[in-house]
Amino acid sequence: MSSTVAVTAASASPLAIWRENRKKYLSEKAKSVKWPVADAIKLKPVFLFDEPVFSTHMCADCRKENRSGTVTMDGDKQVLKIKVCNICASMMNAQRRTKFFNYDVLCFKRSEEGGSSIDTDSTPGMWSSNKF
Ligand SMILES: [Zn+2]
Repeated sequence: MSSTVAVTAASASPLAIWRENRKKYLSEKAKSVKWPVADAIKLKPVFLFDEPVFSTHMCADCRKENRSGTVTMDGDKQVLKIKVCNICASMMNAQRRTKFFNYDVLCFKRSEEGGSSIDTDSTPGMWSSNKF
């Protein structure tokens, strides 16, 4: 580190230093990540709406675009279309898979081994025989 950079870093706020370090870290990590492939971005509504709560991460571009969306009516139902880029679509799938494999399956395993019972309310699709 040059003396100029050291002086700048020493006088910067902790938040500015954190942001700069984060930017450097992200720049380095970005070199090795790959764009999501077709299989990772394919959205499957039957799985997307398995949980009683729908939440997802959205990038700034998607949030901006969806803010200008419209709501139409279909009888007494409101129709809200959501547009997501491939990164956000990939994230939606990754979130769902992570919860399934790192939470639902482990809770199921614990219940099968005599541990705590499964929470049937939070995962209706997984535990219900009426799923499909
Ligand atoms: Zn997006």
